[in-house]
Amino acid sequence: MIMINKIRIKLVVGYTLAIIGVMIAASVAGYMALQHITVTTNKKSLLTYLDTESHESIEMLKEWKKHQNINPDIRSFTAHKLAFNNIVYWVTPDNSILMAEELDSNISASIRQVIKNWKNRSLKIKTLYLSAPNSNTVWHFLMVSKDIYDGDTYLGKVFVGTNLSPLDRISSKYATIAIIIIILVSVLAFFIGNYFASKAIKPIKLSMQKQKEFVGDASHEMRTPLSVLLSSIDMVDGTPRDKNILEAMRSEIIGMRDLVSNLLVLARIEDTEKKVGFGNFDLAKLAESVVMSMQIMANDKKISISLNCVENLQIFANESNIRNLLSILLDNAIKYSGSDTHINIEIKKLNDWALISVKDEGVGIAVNEFDKIFERFYRVDKARSREQGSFGLGLPLAKKIVELHRGKIEVESKLQEGATFIITLPLAQKA
Ligand code: ADP
Repeated sequence: MIMINKIRIKLVVGYTLAIIGVMIAASVAGYMALQHITVTTNKKSLLTYLDTESHESIEMLKEWKKHQNINPDIRSFTAHKLAFNNIVYWVTPDNSILMAEELDSNISASIRQVIKNWKNRSLKIKTLYLSAPNSNTVWHFLMVSKDIYDGDTYLGKVFVGTNLSPLDRISSKYATIAIIIIILVSVLAFFIGNYFASKAIKPIKLSMQKQKEFVGDASHEMRTPLSVLLSSIDMVDGTPRDKNILEAMRSEIIGMRDLVSNLLVLARIEDTEKKVGFGNFDLAKLAESVVMSMQIMANDKKISISLNCVENLQIFANESNIRNLLSILLDNAIKYSGSDTHINIEIKKLNDWALISVKDEGVGIAVNEFDKIFERFYRVDKARSREQGSFGLGLPLAKKIVELHRGKIEVESKLQEGATFIITLPLAQKA
């Protein structure tokens, strides 16, 4: 069920991110279109405005040329700044401002400075970002100039400009509103996605649950007849030939019984994801008892086992699961090692974790098999494993147990040199 929940979370997060991406792209495209439209429209009207103003200015500049003694009369239209967004400057050939219609006295000094240093060719629109002295406000202008001639006589220049700052404020409001909408829709999309994903996954969850129940019940039901068969075989007295057949049957039944009990544990363990049967206990003591129970099997193959363990290492776990886990690893280490070899079990503390390593000197595992050995019913050497009554359920079960405890299981190995299984499990919770 953990896997299904992970898929559900991945689906919801994936869809929400996709919706956020689409909305950001749409908002950015909208913002850029808005900017483009306002700038091009304003550029067009600015050129029309320049045309009108330059017609009207010919007479005035001619007059000035006749009586060069007119004092520059700077008229300021600050009073109209909210209703009217344009500025006009008439400049004489000696680069002094003859007359002006301005917007705001705060910004006029900066504009005049720009005009003084103006190097643009006639009719080329310039974008200006100007800030008034002693103020943080940035003014955004489009400005253009035109040289005025009377026949071949150069009379001066007309500058017109338009203030785009109010439109910038609208754009920034648009951006704020877009961000708020994106956040709201994303939250909404997350909850709606979560609702529909949960609904869609419900039947899958149910059928997986039923399948697990079936495996659990079937393996539970099979255990009793297998035990009966086993004890019946033990009771049969037969000829030496019969005895050989009975021994073969006995080992097949034992293999089948182990498979069935592994299947049962796997099915049941997935039903108990909610830390059922968890408690604090001493991992060192448990490891000692597992080693003792496997000693006869190891002795048969002349394999020695050493256990290096920190004393009284308390962990928070399900004791019967951890016993199962250690038995699987030690059983494998014995099964896949030759005689006269050594197995070393080391258990130590690392930060908030207990670190268990089971190292053998057996056949080892190829690197490309590292992931596969944790898959159900996967065996590297099928014929050999079958001979040993193995079904490829040990390591998947070990992995399941470790995951249930929020721990990690890893393997390190070189072919023919042995394998080491390393596990981390959480330490006991402090009271
Ligand atoms: P099995 O019941 O076959 O042992 P497992 O799931 O426990 O099933 O292991 C899967 C496969 O991984 C085994 O068939 C074996 O090939 C390989 N394997 C597991 N442990 C070891 C080990 N300690 N050394 C070498 N190979 C191993």
